[in-house]
Amino acid sequence: MTQKSPISGFDYVIPKPDAETIRKSIVYKMIFILGVDPKDATEHQWLNAAMLAARDLIAEDFLRTRRAHIDNSKRMVYYLSMEFLLGRAFVNALINEGVYAEFEKAFKALGKEFADVCEQEEDPGLGNGGLGRLAACFLDSLATLRIPAMGYGIRYQYGMFKQEIVDGQQVEKPDLWLDQDLSWQFARPNKQYSVGFGGQVINFGDRKEWTPGEEVSAWAYDEIIPGYGGEVANPLRLWTAHAGNLFDLADFNRGDYSSAVRAQNSDENISRVLYPNDSTDSGKELRLKQEYFLVSASVQDIVARHKCRFSDIRTLADEVAIHLNDTHPVLAIPELMRILIDEEGLAWTEAWNICCKVFSYTNHTLMSEALETWPVDLMGRLLPRHLDIIFEINAYFLNALRAIGSFDDDFVSRVSIIDETHGRRVRMGWLAVIGSHKVNGVAKIHSDLMVNTIFADFAKVFPERFTNVTNGVTPRRWINIANPPLTAFLDKHLGKGKKNDWRMHLDNLTKLNELVDDAAVQTEFGEVKKAAKVRLAKYIETELGISVNPDALFDIQIKRIHEYKRQALNVMHIVDRYNKILENPDADWQPRVFIFAGKAASAYYMAKKIIRLINDVAKVINNDERIRDLIKVVFIPNYSVSLAQIIIPAADLHEQISLAGTEASGTSNMKFALNGAVCMGTLDGANVEILEKVGAEHCYIFGNTVEQVEAIRRKGYDPMSYIEKDSDLRRVVNQISHGTFSPEEPNRYGDVLQPYGDFYQLMADFRSYIDTQYKADAHYRDAAAWRKSALVNIANMGFFSSDRSIADYCRDIWYIKPLTAKELPSSN
Ligand SMILES: *Cc1c(COP(=O)(O)O)cnc(C)c1O
Repeated sequence: MTQKSPISGFDYVIPKPDAETIRKSIVYKMIFILGVDPKDATEHQWLNAAMLAARDLIAEDFLRTRRAHIDNSKRMVYYLSMEFLLGRAFVNALINEGVYAEFEKAFKALGKEFADVCEQEEDPGLGNGGLGRLAACFLDSLATLRIPAMGYGIRYQYGMFKQEIVDGQQVEKPDLWLDQDLSWQFARPNKQYSVGFGGQVINFGDRKEWTPGEEVSAWAYDEIIPGYGGEVANPLRLWTAHAGNLFDLADFNRGDYSSAVRAQNSDENISRVLYPNDSTDSGKELRLKQEYFLVSASVQDIVARHKCRFSDIRTLADEVAIHLNDTHPVLAIPELMRILIDEEGLAWTEAWNICCKVFSYTNHTLMSEALETWPVDLMGRLLPRHLDIIFEINAYFLNALRAIGSFDDDFVSRVSIIDETHGRRVRMGWLAVIGSHKVNGVAKIHSDLMVNTIFADFAKVFPERFTNVTNGVTPRRWINIANPPLTAFLDKHLGKGKKNDWRMHLDNLTKLNELVDDAAVQTEFGEVKKAAKVRLAKYIETELGISVNPDALFDIQIKRIHEYKRQALNVMHIVDRYNKILENPDADWQPRVFIFAGKAASAYYMAKKIIRLINDVAKVINNDERIRDLIKVVFIPNYSVSLAQIIIPAADLHEQISLAGTEASGTSNMKFALNGAVCMGTLDGANVEILEKVGAEHCYIFGNTVEQVEAIRRKGYDPMSYIEKDSDLRRVVNQISHGTFSPEEPNRYGDVLQPYGDFYQLMADFRSYIDTQYKADAHYRDAAAWRKSALVNIANMGFFSSDRSIADYCRDIWYIKPLTAKELPSSN
């Protein structure tokens, strides 16, 4: 907590960060901003008032930062993403500003329970899974590292959905996160851009002009993202769709109320909900409109800011980097081309050179069914000028290839942006690669596979374009906020001085390696872990009425529910263990609590069925007295960042069991290891690098490698051959498929374990998975050895800080330099 110099040139009531001033500021906000008598205020109103008081502190940082960018003509990076899975903002802001203790004191003086007030905040509904959470960790690191940066996204009114479990099944309810009525984001009513759809392209010979048939207005809201250390804060600009002038007063006056608002409603649907990005989507057209809406408003804003600061559009690439988080915002490329050519009057080649320097793209998946393509017809109808530009980009690219002469027709049609084999579709991934100067994967193994599989052809054309940046997570949220006892433990053993602070320099965790064999330190860590397990056990008891034993091994798999992540394999292990305990009840079994959480995309039949299977298995096993609590199975509903913050610190073992070659990186694996849990995983995504850092004695790896999976596929995978030769497996498959866990409907899970011939090879990895699980049991029994492994995991996670990822991006992809202490107006 340092007193900073005020915004210069004006005299105002400066928001000082001491408990006394904070207390008064909170009461002031209650009375004068919210108009509420503090005597009557609800907990929620106290939260709102406190957030306004906290926002004052970060607003000054934000304005100072912005001024420093302008005064020093800083090159900026813009991060475009359809999702930002931010989690709660309040405590994060307090910790990053260094004022948590002062706010706590202020609430004590007000006679309020601070923790209860903080619990009032709901997570923003702005993201779905790992991709969105990555964007959120990156925003935290960008601000912490003082990088001149800004995020752009959509302000979804209803988020994705709130998950409830009814009779074991997922039910989707609207996520009314904006109804919580917190005045946290700054509305920017002066930042409005018109976003067009449809209409015609008029050809004037030397130039073209697009006249949209429909226009939607994009309004900006800024969420301020404070960096750790309280010096820099960057904006995340979120767009809302407004129909503006579409309200038809004539209809309304005639008494036709529904016509008066119909067009308005349909346009405003654009920012209504987030579609989960990992299923066969319904509402394709709306999704495409959303993507263009995000991109058009953001690129217009970026161009306007550049012209305001530098007055020459031709220098755009010198001052600006735009990053595309997956293919969803790739229309930014033709949108910038359109603006440069149609509006700014640049020639094609000049515009294209600017684009290729400005854009970079992160690939997040190798699964071809998840790579976005759009029907040419649909794109032509909604975005006729952009389709034109895409055709032209493609023509230039293919002509250049043909001119080289060494690529045959087959090759040329494979790399064409237009896929002619599936009813003419625009391949967004291809457009991204062609229009970017750098393309990165998100873990070493993923980046290698990327250039050997989906982008193998492009790697021949642009070998220097492809690179890797392994994902990371922010230690501020994933240790400091999520795990206060571990935070205290690390501060005690590593020191908290500015140079030592592990929050900023996560590599300093390696010093723990000297302590991992110290019995006293191990015991101390045992207490840290126990506290987190007790906290989670209480949550489970309160929310679900299930009691779990905090001394049992907590075995946790939390992530979106998807066949490739193989939650079903986890269930197969549980069922096999159940069978073995019944067979041999007197053996010395290690009690385990299996914990699941995760949402299934609403249109994803099989994923929803897997949720139901988990709950059916839980019902049978949890209620079987013969099991005597040796197994407990818990599915915690409505997985979110806030839930992850309670669950992750409590893990002993975390399940990262995707089929090798399918998980690009994963980031929950990093969060778990950072909190002292041991990995049970395949050689997939970032598990490979975690293994490299912590060593094979402290990490359980099982199953086939990417090469083995491939070889099995080439030979013709036969799941039956595994089932026939393994009687345990045979029994598990029979039980699940024939109603042991759904006696009222024996066929319920007849289709779950081997759809499309067991595409994700559960049967092939079953035996190795089971055997490895029993090794982990034996290890866990030796408490000292297990705690040592947990500590070794923490000690070697420094590499997986999102600060390291962002430093990589800045150096290798964006060519961006942080604000120096000199450039930042003094903070004394
Ligand atoms: C970290 C995180 C994810 C990503 O989890 P993976 O296991 O890497 O897929 C998804 N959702 C939330 C809420 C997270 O915090």
